[in-house]
Order: sequence, then C-alpha cells, then structure tokens
Amino acid sequence: MRRCLIAANWKMHGTVASIEAYLETLVERVGPDGPEVVVCPPFTLLPAALLIASGSEVAVGAQNCHWADAGAFTGEVAAPMLAELGAQWVIVGHSERRQHFGETDETAAARAKAAQRAGLSVIFCLGETLEQRDAGETLAVLERQSAALAGLDPALLAVAYEPVWAIGTGRNATPAQAQEAHAALRRRAGELLGAEAAGTLRILYGGSVKPDNALSLLAQSDVDGALVGGASLDVEGFCAIIHAAPGRRPGA
Ligand code: PEP
Repeated sequence: MRRCLIAANWKMHGTVASIEAYLETLVERVGPDGPEVVVCPPFTLLPAALLIASGSEVAVGAQNCHWADAGAFTGEVAAPMLAELGAQWVIVGHSERRQHFGETDETAAARAKAAQRAGLSVIFCLGETLEQRDAGETLAVLERQSAALAGLDPALLAVAYEPVWAIGTGRNATPAQAQEAHAALRRRAGELLGAEAAGTLRILYGGSVKPDNALSLLAQSDVDGALVGGASLDVEGFCAIIHAAPGRRPGA
C-alpha cells in the first residue's frame, strides 16, 4: 500500500505570529488514518512550527538544504542542521530553485543525497517547462531529471511531478496529463530503484492544486498525493485538499 502524502510548500511566506493559529487548526484536523501531512515553512519558522506540531500527526520539513554537511557556504543551511532541529522532510530541486537560483540536475541530486545522509526524507521535484511540453519533450525531460533518483534510499523519498507551467499559474495539469507523467515516472523508478521500491514510491502532483481540482487529480491511480503552494497558505483550503486525498491506495 502507498499512504498518500499531502505537503504544503509555504515558499517565502509567513511570520511566527501568523502561523500559530494555522498550525493549531491543522494539528487538530489531521489524524492517523488519512494521508500523511507535511508543512514546509521558510527556515526561520521551522522552530515555531516544530514546537506546535510536536506530538501531532503533522510533520515539518524545509524547502531546501545544501549538499555539504558543513563548510564555507555563506547563507546556506545544511541537512544535519535541519535534522538537529527535528525537521523530517526537505524539498529538493523545486523549479523555483532551478529557475532563479541556478539549481541543476547535479546539484539537486547532491542535495538529495545530503538530506538522506542526515536522515531526512526528500520530496524530489521535477517537471517540464511549457516549451518542453509543446515540443513533445515532456517524457524525455522527466527521464533526464529523474536520473538523480539513482542511488537514493527509496524509504526516504517521494517524488513531486511539478510541470513548471502549472506552478503558481492557476493552470493545473489535467488528471490525464498528470497520470501519464506519473506512470512514466513510476516505470523509470522501477529501472532506477527496482520494481518493489517503485511500487511503494509516493509520486505527488504539484502545480495549482486547489480544493476544487484536488479530487480529480488525486483520483488517478499513480497520483499519491500533492505538493501544494499557494492554496496551502489558507488552512481551510489546505484541509479541504487533505480531505480529498485517499488515505492509502494499493501499491503495485
Ligand atoms: C509549488 O510551489 O510546489 C506549487 C505547486 O505551487 P502552486 O500550488 O502555487 O502552483
């Protein structure tokens, strides 16, 4: 079985004052029987988020980590630092990091390895641009980007298919487009990680997931959850997406 996973990417939003009521509501609404729930606030909010979520069913993750365990990397945060705080997850390779901060397939792979070395679970993001989709290159791009999964520990891994043209645009992939990409990624994971790991790997969809489209996306057999940006900033909207997700679905 695969337990669905719904993750919130708050991006560069929130203050210590603003997240208290949000997280108190969330921890009350999330139980052990539904999907697994993770919130990924900015670094500065991790201690406050971890304090409120402590002992609850809500896990906390970061939005990035460096590939070195320590060193002269001004402004960066290392995976062991996140683990020391108590974070359980980290998002790696998000398209905003690739677009604005020079993230490459190689650096994303190195960050994912560092995260797992520190015992963190990774949400590894990949997805094609609009130009690549229009040129019919989607599956080739996913094949190239997913090479980073080789050598990762499947027990500490989820993959997020996030078409770049759907992130923050209000234009989500159709359920059929998502299913096609997810099925291809699961086949690819089979080649890279083995059939058993591919069968239990959670593959999340991300890109303008909202309460009103979550049900149809999450109904697809290879869509095991969602990485939610904008709609996760409102706790009621995020809870509606969580409740649209099946708790568990049969793995291959
Ligand atoms: C994201 O940032 O990962 C994301 C999917 O954003 P949005 O839901 O706003 O498209």
